[in-house]
Amino acid sequence: MFRQTKAAFQKLRYVSFNRPQQTWRLSSTSAKERALQYQPGQKIHGFTVKEVVAVPDLFLTAVKLTHNKTGAQYLHTARDDSNNLFSVQFRTTPMDSTGVPHILEHTVLCGSEKYPCRDPFFKMLNRSLSTFMNAFTASDYTMYPFSTQNAKDFQNLLSVYLDAVFFPCLREQDFWQEGWRLENENPTDPNSPLVFKGVVFNEMKGHFSDNERLYAQQLQNKLYPNHTYSVVSGGEPLAIPDLTWEQLKQFHATHYHPSNARFFTYGDLPLEDHLKQIQDEALSKFERINPNTEVPSQPLWNSPREDHVTCSPDALAPDPAKQNTLCVSYLLGDITDAFEGFTLSLLSSLMISGPNSPFYKSLIEPNIGTDFSSVVGYDGSTKEASFSIGLQGMAEEDSERVKQIISQTIDHIIDNGFEEERIEALLHKVEIQMKHQSTNFGLALASYVASLWNHDGDPVDLLRISDSVAKFRQALKENPRFLQDKVKHYFKENPHRLTLSMSPDVTYLEKQAKAEEEKLQEKIQVLSDDDRKQIYEKGLELLEAQSKTQDASCLPALKVSDIAPTTPITPVQMSTAGGVPLQICEQPTNGLVYFRAMCSLNTLPEDLRLYVPLFCTVITKMGCGALDYRQQAQQMELRTGGMSVSSQVIPDSTNLDMYEQGILLYSSCLERNLPHMFQLWSDIFNSPNFDNEERLRVLVMMSAQELANSISYSGQMYAMTRAGRHLTPAGDLLETFGGMEQVTFMKRIAEMPDLSQVIRTLPRIKRHLLNPDNMRCAINTTPQRVSNAAAQLEVFMKDVAENRKERKPARANIINKPLDPLDELSPSRKVISELNFQPCPMKTYFQLPFPVNFVGECIRTVPFAHEDYASLCILGRMMTAKFLHGEIREKGGAYGGGARMGGGGLFSFYSYRDPNSVQTLSAFRKGVDWAKSGQFTQQDIDEAKLSIFSSVDSPVAPADKGMARFLSGVTDEMKQSHRERLFAVSHKNLVDVAERYLGVGQRTCGVVILGPENETIKKDPSWVVK
Ligand SMILES: [Zn+2]
Repeated sequence: MFRQTKAAFQKLRYVSFNRPQQTWRLSSTSAKERALQYQPGQKIHGFTVKEVVAVPDLFLTAVKLTHNKTGAQYLHTARDDSNNLFSVQFRTTPMDSTGVPHILEHTVLCGSEKYPCRDPFFKMLNRSLSTFMNAFTASDYTMYPFSTQNAKDFQNLLSVYLDAVFFPCLREQDFWQEGWRLENENPTDPNSPLVFKGVVFNEMKGHFSDNERLYAQQLQNKLYPNHTYSVVSGGEPLAIPDLTWEQLKQFHATHYHPSNARFFTYGDLPLEDHLKQIQDEALSKFERINPNTEVPSQPLWNSPREDHVTCSPDALAPDPAKQNTLCVSYLLGDITDAFEGFTLSLLSSLMISGPNSPFYKSLIEPNIGTDFSSVVGYDGSTKEASFSIGLQGMAEEDSERVKQIISQTIDHIIDNGFEEERIEALLHKVEIQMKHQSTNFGLALASYVASLWNHDGDPVDLLRISDSVAKFRQALKENPRFLQDKVKHYFKENPHRLTLSMSPDVTYLEKQAKAEEEKLQEKIQVLSDDDRKQIYEKGLELLEAQSKTQDASCLPALKVSDIAPTTPITPVQMSTAGGVPLQICEQPTNGLVYFRAMCSLNTLPEDLRLYVPLFCTVITKMGCGALDYRQQAQQMELRTGGMSVSSQVIPDSTNLDMYEQGILLYSSCLERNLPHMFQLWSDIFNSPNFDNEERLRVLVMMSAQELANSISYSGQMYAMTRAGRHLTPAGDLLETFGGMEQVTFMKRIAEMPDLSQVIRTLPRIKRHLLNPDNMRCAINTTPQRVSNAAAQLEVFMKDVAENRKERKPARANIINKPLDPLDELSPSRKVISELNFQPCPMKTYFQLPFPVNFVGECIRTVPFAHEDYASLCILGRMMTAKFLHGEIREKGGAYGGGARMGGGGLFSFYSYRDPNSVQTLSAFRKGVDWAKSGQFTQQDIDEAKLSIFSSVDSPVAPADKGMARFLSGVTDEMKQSHRERLFAVSHKNLVDVAERYLGVGQRTCGVVILGPENETIKKDPSWVVK
């Protein structure tokens, strides 16, 4: 479904280990204690218990089992968390680049024996309260996870997942739709030219239009050239049309078998129930096979290798002359050695993370490139791990210099090692990560163990983090050169290393298009008239199947009555500290204290607003007080869980022309470090250091590069943000802070030869933003730590009192809203009111070097508190599931598309990685007509409600509780009213809001497309082309 890149999996190694909130009221019957009662050798529903291990670090009990008949493996992690997770993973090791595992991942979700309706997976999204549903194709396994807080829902989803993976229909039509097919460009016109279509075909074209992904894929293929890692598991677009339906079915039979499966469950539901259902519905129907899917070790090279690849030029790159990438990648040891993996990932952090690391100093700071290469550091997602180091955004002539720096830096590390304080800071980070609670712990855990387990390592080894930390300390004590020896062994003396460079080629896209055309002609030339006739008929059949209304009644479903009628209350206390309003939210945070401060930017001169995101990026990274930026980074790592600042645009909940603007400071720490954390903030307020131009340039380049790269990942977000620009005042500011306007602005800054003007601007912004006069704070922590945290905050406010200045707002139209809506006398937030704002329609086209389009259309509707808001939420969801998904994804071949109601009162349509552009806009309009015609059922409405509630009720981490109220002033009472309106939405309401807000003539809308050169649009004068 949503293919994870290697980089994304890499990040999952740094999972946040959270403790669920229920644990603090431990009872003797807690899930993890119940699980401790299983005995090795015990037989349960066709499985045998192999091992039971308490893992106190992560507050869980791990139970390992094996399925007797098939050898399927099972890991259960019992933990007092209601967000239960299931996942099944298969070792999928393709030997060609046809994308067979990826296309299979898609097609098994298109219907199964028990659930033969088309697309049960997408349909379940609307029949369940799942908190997560997805599927991933990695390089060597395919994983199907879901999570939910509802026991009945868990059974329903488990049933659908088991049937999908073990008993899929794998119809030929599913293969055409999801994989690839030849079809008339216009399926109803037999004379229109034949073209390639298919969801995965287009998905992978889009995927590799991103140079970072292209590079990552090439690097892996070339570092492991002997087996499955030498091919593209997701599919090389031009190899995809070599796959046949027969091959797909064969791959399923040999890989999606219990003997090649690993089951994982997590949470507080009883293990026996899971085992029984898995045994009854799936495993009992299989005999053991030998799947033969092991990945052999990569034969080692005798000498290092070099290679080169090309890519398309990046129009948004900060410096067009500097668009090369170069990195050196080293093959490391087998990942099934968990301690070695732990050591190497720590070592990797020491080598590359933060301004104190040797590679940051030697590669980033001399400003040779814009940032590290997209693949950097330790990667444990393959059987043998790798470590990569290099630069992107560099000039070709610097290649030799970069290679030299890399080898010199390695020598330098071998000679000098690492400072003890940096190692301590890193181990502190591991401690914080274990204590910090996220909401998707089960998923993080499943992903964390997936690779090692996939190659028959012991997943429980990975969970014993404290053991690894202790072992690591011991190893360092016994041998102070422990880390240096590793560097010598794995880097200096390792001949299995690859230097891969990548440079832009202006004819790249042309060549790609030509190669695709040749492949197409190759397929077409062999066709007889009869074949062509068949292709036309099959195209019509598929179109008909896609247009047919579907009977999904075979699928299990929750009912609207299964949804909790009330919003859980999150109690907060309002108080003050040092004259500043303070919201306190008592939460089971495991000893961590979370601090936030919202600072208004109402007094900031308008012409400085574009600089705010840059200010936020650099303000915690330039040094402060007596600390230079290196020391500051060190202190942050040693004393806090991170400190960050972000820009905020908060639309008012009652009026579309009102909003709050500001920046949000955020940090966390262990209680013992509170004084240190606030001291760091005080230094930032009182004496930030903005003068270091070299440091500023590094940060500017990195941030400009990151923005340029983000467009191909989330082009639809940029399209929607831009489309909303002229519709509301908040929409306008959102574009300034995070839209295409910001991308262009940062590109301009990055190109400036002299940053002194920026250096003069930053302190001006600071005077307006870091001003206690327009600030409010929030603290989330355990009840025992509240008073200490508040006292420390008081000290901080005294320390920064000098910055308190009453300043004149930049705009006259500011109104005060009480922070506590029930108490008019409570402290207030200052909201900008632009009641004279004139929304205006606009169509903008951004021509970019992508092979696919991103389309966004926004319509101005109503704010959160309006009675029609709930109907528009349901309408967006229903229109997506029942109409737009079929039109845009299934028929149009886009990777995705839909509609949704946004918090700022804008109703948005979008598509991403879309081969179409203007046609998609007409699909949006057809969606509105469909809604107005009222051709939907009560069942459709109920499904949309379930789907909306699964996001309304998605779990919130203790660190984030009470934040809607703190930031937007949305109270539990307001949420409850919204909830009741959602329940009450009727058929009539939906037709009514579609007519009143979305019908042509009723609406003011903005339209934006990001995509390749487009003749239709060029000829149409109603478009503004950028
Ligand atoms: Zn996919």
